[in-house]
Amino acid sequence: MDKNKAVENLDRVISKVEAARLRVSGHHIVKIIGISKYSTASDIALLYQAGQRAFGENKVQDLKAKSEELDELPLEWHFVGRLQKNKINNLIDLNPTLMHSLDSLELAQELNKKLEAKNKTMSCLLQINSAKEDSKAGVDPDEAIKIYEEVSKTCPNIRLKGVMSIGAHVDDRNIIKNSFEVTKKIFNKLESFSPKYCSMGMSGDFELAIACGSNMIRVGSILFK
Ligand SMILES: *Cc1c(COP(=O)(O)O)cnc(C)c1O
Repeated sequence: MDKNKAVENLDRVISKVEAARLRVSGHHIVKIIGISKYSTASDIALLYQAGQRAFGENKVQDLKAKSEELDELPLEWHFVGRLQKNKINNLIDLNPTLMHSLDSLELAQELNKKLEAKNKTMSCLLQINSAKEDSKAGVDPDEAIKIYEEVSKTCPNIRLKGVMSIGAHVDDRNIIKNSFEVTKKIFNKLESFSPKYCSMGMSGDFELAIACGSNMIRVGSILFK
């Protein structure tokens, strides 16, 4: 990627997001997270120069390496991958802006315990396996509200900010749409917790996700190509 390509990629994504959000409402604001897991620190820097500030990684060690390499830039870092128990302390030390992938009550309680020990807090989203796919992480949609309540009640060092889902891994757009709608419905039912983010949509389905109410998209391949 060179400088022009970075500007071109980002402009294309922003135009599409703009059109998709305006189809929902002029008041519907969508935040773009650039998922940099297949890219280098120098490509991230080019996108930063083009105007992108928020980036995300799915491995703690990659988040550490790239955030340290780009230390001098005022970037916002997100964590979107499966968090192994033995990496929890490393993630805490990296102070991510938002952790999107809290995928069980057990992980939440373990994370909370380690946050407490370090006297820190972390903003997180509850990941929901809305398509009920075995290959995917996340809580069962039928249990999501109960677990969200439980985490809110028992994990004071976790600041729950909403929900995250990965769209169904199929070609049928209706099935993908349905998986986004399941998550959006749960997001709506959590109103009393004032959830802020409904993180849904990747390179192949972000416009559909926005139409279904997503206000945070995680795009990698279309931004870093
Ligand atoms: C890789 C990844 C993305 C971005 O995927 P693209 O299809 O490259 O846009 C988004 N969310 C999560 C959780 C990911 O692991």
